[in-house]
Amino acid sequence: MLKLRQVAIFSQENEALQILSAALPKECVAQPITTLADLTPLLENHRTDFLVLMLPRGQEIAILEQIESEVINFPLLLITCGRADPALFDALLAVQPLALLTFPFTVPEAQTALTLAFERGKRVARYQHLSENLAEVNRNLNQRLQELNTIYTIGRSVTASLDATEVMTRVVAMAVNLTQADEGLLLLREADKLYLRISRQTENDVTRSFHQEVSDPSAGQVIRSGRPTMLHRPTQVATGTEVRALLYVPLQAPGRGVIGVLGVLNVARDQAFTEQHLFALSSIADFAGIALENARLFGAAEMERSRLSAILEHAAEPILVTDDANRLLLWSHTAAEVFGIRPDARGQELAAHITHEGLCDLFNQADLGDPLLHDEIRLEDGRVFNAQLSVIADVGRVAIMQNITHLKELDRLKSEFVSTVSHDLRTPLTTILGYMELLERVGPLSDMQQNFIAKALNSLTHITALIGDLLDIGRIEAGYDLEMHPIRLDEVIARTADAYTLYAEQHEIALRVDLGTKPLWVRGNARRMRQVIENLTSNAIKYNRSGGWVEITAQLDGDHIIVRIEDNGIGIPFEEQPKLFERFYRVKTAETADIQGTGLGLAIVKSVIEKHQGRVWVESLPGAGSAFVFIVPNCAVSEAQG
Ligand code: ADP
Repeated sequence: MLKLRQVAIFSQENEALQILSAALPKECVAQPITTLADLTPLLENHRTDFLVLMLPRGQEIAILEQIESEVINFPLLLITCGRADPALFDALLAVQPLALLTFPFTVPEAQTALTLAFERGKRVARYQHLSENLAEVNRNLNQRLQELNTIYTIGRSVTASLDATEVMTRVVAMAVNLTQADEGLLLLREADKLYLRISRQTENDVTRSFHQEVSDPSAGQVIRSGRPTMLHRPTQVATGTEVRALLYVPLQAPGRGVIGVLGVLNVARDQAFTEQHLFALSSIADFAGIALENARLFGAAEMERSRLSAILEHAAEPILVTDDANRLLLWSHTAAEVFGIRPDARGQELAAHITHEGLCDLFNQADLGDPLLHDEIRLEDGRVFNAQLSVIADVGRVAIMQNITHLKELDRLKSEFVSTVSHDLRTPLTTILGYMELLERVGPLSDMQQNFIAKALNSLTHITALIGDLLDIGRIEAGYDLEMHPIRLDEVIARTADAYTLYAEQHEIALRVDLGTKPLWVRGNARRMRQVIENLTSNAIKYNRSGGWVEITAQLDGDHIIVRIEDNGIGIPFEEQPKLFERFYRVKTAETADIQGTGLGLAIVKSVIEKHQGRVWVESLPGAGSAFVFIVPNCAVSEAQG
């Protein structure tokens, strides 16, 4: 604000001087000047606030040129005597007056001109004041920006490392650098103790790392209060040194509160730290807290990973862990030995290191949402592994393999034994059966004898069927009698169904067959396929009620053939369904109690279908009926015709 106190009036005209003095407001003091020589010191020393300059006629331009540099930017009222010509007008404007007046004038005219000049002067002064303020704010902003930029750069460099000691070393070096301190240190809290971790001396450019329990009352206070401390007096610190000034700020980790103290010290110089140092150090400490927490979490995760990896490595079973994209993450040393995985395989594609097709397929098939996948992995050296693969969200896939070579061998021996024994049993049984049938012919038998013979014959038939089935399953599993040729599955089904018409009629069951119109070619064994259809059809009739129906359908679906044998019989309890295909498994309910069977029919079906590269399953609603479905590959027509 322009407060007008001293108004210098340069005029060589007495009358004008008097009118101007009379026109001045009360709060202003007039300083009349009559020579130009008196004017300059007045302006230079700011002994006046406003200047009224009356230019004598004929000398206007000369005077203006003489004083131009001094009066520019000074609040000024110019007075001319008479009209100004263009040259004078330019000269007048060059000194930037706030108002112009022409002599002679009256007191009111002078007052109007002065008021106008004062008002403008105030506005100009206010504007200048604002501009200065703005320039100051700009300067401050720029300085802050530079500081922030430095701190940001420091932050980036600090948080770039995941090694705690490296982070701490950088933090202390930067803290010392930014505050121009003699020394710096970093202390960490563990349980209730304080440990000196890093100390740095600028003078000999040495940084040391420690893990040494220390006591430092100033640091203790920072930890307890969570607030910085700035001291400018002799103080003993954690390193054992007496310092002249110190600045300690807390290190805070997200979610863990104060974890330590970052400090800068002046030891040799008696120089206090400032608020600006406090700001800079606090900013570094903020970054340091986050960086240290990151390093801690990373360290913990790494330790977990290496522990897990050690456990896995020493597991007796082959174990493979991949990520979602089937890149190898971890494996046990047994897996490395069995599949020849090189130590540098981590992060690389499974298929690049494992040549076993079955195992690669198992990994490729797995999808999230799949339950456990199983497969038997056979190696060229004869070893067999049972591989179980599970998909774990956010981890990838884990395959664990058990060596089942000896179990497989036992199974083979058992099948061989059963097959031999069954074969040896069949011959004497056939003889017994023959003689029992002859008994009736050699003489009349009493009712009781006939009844006993019927029972014995029934049991013999059962044993013969059992032995027949046992022999079959043994042979199928051993791969005997399984020569494969292109066969028409529709014809096999039609012939088998025909043979069961009478059996169905006896049980009062309607047997329907729908095989479509196209030939259904399969590369398979006609005898075994017939056995499959027989077992499934006879079950559908056996486990039915009189008046029920059985429907056999077969159709081509892409490159597979789907066969479905459905009935509306007694159905199978849900909890029994998963076990149906096991050997000797029979459902025991009131409804099945009188139905004869060996419990081997479905086991034979499963074996045969699997030997045909197919799958079989059951869909059943207890009380309402069942459907047994199998699917086998359709063989190409060219192959079939060849
Ligand atoms: P079984 O000689 O006992 O018939 P299978 O292996 O053929 O032996 O069948 C196993 C069991 O599955 C049977 O005991 C029976 O309880 C059940 N089962 C098989 N087929 C059907 C069906 N179509 N309806 C109801 N239960 C069935």
